[in-house]
Amino acid sequence: MRHQLFIDGRFVDAASGQTLPTLNPHDGSTLADVAMAGTEDIDRAVLAAQRAFPAWSRMAAADRGRILLKLADLIESRADDLARLESLDTGHPLRDSRTLDVPRTAACFRYFGGMADKFQGETIPVEAGFLNYTLREPVGVVGQVVPWNFPLMFTSWKMAPALAAGNTVVMKPAEITPLSALAIAELMAEAGLPEGVVNIVPGLGTVAGQHLAEHPGVAKLAFTGSTATGRRVVQASAGNLKKLQLELGGKGANIVFADADLAAAVNGSAWAIFHNQGQACIAGSRLVLHERIAEEFLDRFLALARSIRVGNPLAAATEMGPLTSAAHRDKVLGYVDIAREQGGELLSGGKPPADAALAQGFYVEPTVMRARSAADRIAQEEVFGPFVTVLVFKDDAEALAIANGTDYGLGAGLWTRDLARAHRFAREMKSGMVWVNSYKRVNPGSPFGGVGQSGYGREMGFDAMREYTQVKSVWVNVDAQIPAWYAR
Ligand code: NAD
Repeated sequence: MRHQLFIDGRFVDAASGQTLPTLNPHDGSTLADVAMAGTEDIDRAVLAAQRAFPAWSRMAAADRGRILLKLADLIESRADDLARLESLDTGHPLRDSRTLDVPRTAACFRYFGGMADKFQGETIPVEAGFLNYTLREPVGVVGQVVPWNFPLMFTSWKMAPALAAGNTVVMKPAEITPLSALAIAELMAEAGLPEGVVNIVPGLGTVAGQHLAEHPGVAKLAFTGSTATGRRVVQASAGNLKKLQLELGGKGANIVFADADLAAAVNGSAWAIFHNQGQACIAGSRLVLHERIAEEFLDRFLALARSIRVGNPLAAATEMGPLTSAAHRDKVLGYVDIAREQGGELLSGGKPPADAALAQGFYVEPTVMRARSAADRIAQEEVFGPFVTVLVFKDDAEALAIANGTDYGLGAGLWTRDLARAHRFAREMKSGMVWVNSYKRVNPGSPFGGVGQSGYGREMGFDAMREYTQVKSVWVNVDAQIPAWYAR
């Protein structure tokens, strides 16, 4: 299979003719060769988006919305194919791709399709004689850089609000998972999206991504990826002072108090870390347990972790698939040694599964390690795999100190029956999102994003529309008598 770039409404080869293979993480085989955008292709895509901007931004908002609603319907009508493609390219278990990724992608386009004509400016009660109102105007050409962990879903999270607000888009998917974004491109014309409004240009981050971040024709860059790359993007964007939105890494604390419903907490904590093989920025990767229930909790949690069915993502029974790349698997497994050197204790997993049928794939068993201290590397650094770090606390103050004791601040959870404590922690936790007696809920209406080294800006909801617009204040003299500046 061969795939091309999507520029100005057409599928085209890269100017250099170069391609990159994308692999099936289940067995390491090549799924497809994908055109690799270079700087010239990014320039072409930005130009196409610039040309498309005037008409798209002036189109009635309801008409833009209608196109996004149609796209949502089309995604649903191709749900089986899209889910399979996402599972092949990323390793997501098919049942997750089918029940979560694809429906959430459609829901996001639908939400922002409905939003397009409901996001509005304000009138401001200024001094007598003046009408003052605000316009929410699109920013222009928006560059979007997406990681490999939820490529389909993130395509919608980034594209839908940008388009609803009247921007045009140049999107660079991650080099190792470009297929689902290109599949969405195939639906664009059918949905009625004019040529050039969306351009999808897979390529290397250090070449295509970097050029997009530097590009003077790009007014805003929305980036999701690691904190280290986020910093590079900030520097690259300085030339034309791009508006920036950064969704970066995380090290989610998931606190279980002694009064929690343990069955629910065990189950929810497993979901928090093992869903999508732990490759989630909001993963509950630090399991913070009250000392009174720690051993009982761990007995149950380890039994659950060991029972997770790891296997071919396309098999109906599979609950955890492979990691998305071999390099990433090696990085995750490397943390077992890093932890041991610091006195960490391996409680479960820590290696590829024994099953010979999985030997060519990028698999890692669900892994649970107890850290010696909250300062250890496995308690501080984002592992981004099916790897959870266990920490134990004595009282609320210590739990909060552990939870807030990293540079990140994206997602956090807590399990308790004490209502006052739940609200107190929700207020005190240094985190963009907090889940109480639950973990990792997302919805197109609810703001998503982080604080600290997890980035800034918000996806989803009205906040996303604010991110993708700039506000203009208009003053109209209705009947104000303005005295002469100088009496003459
Ligand atoms: P990454 O930073 O390596 O890559 C992300 C994207 O940036 C890719 O498309 C890559 O090609 C591109 N890129 C790389 N170098 C670039 C450069 N110099 N200029 C511009 N673009 C460049 O991250 P990853 O390994 O693909 O993704 C995993 C990371 O993403 C984790 O840290 C995870 O927490 C984070 N993430 C954050 C969120 C969130 O919403 N906060 C969501 C998902 C993933």
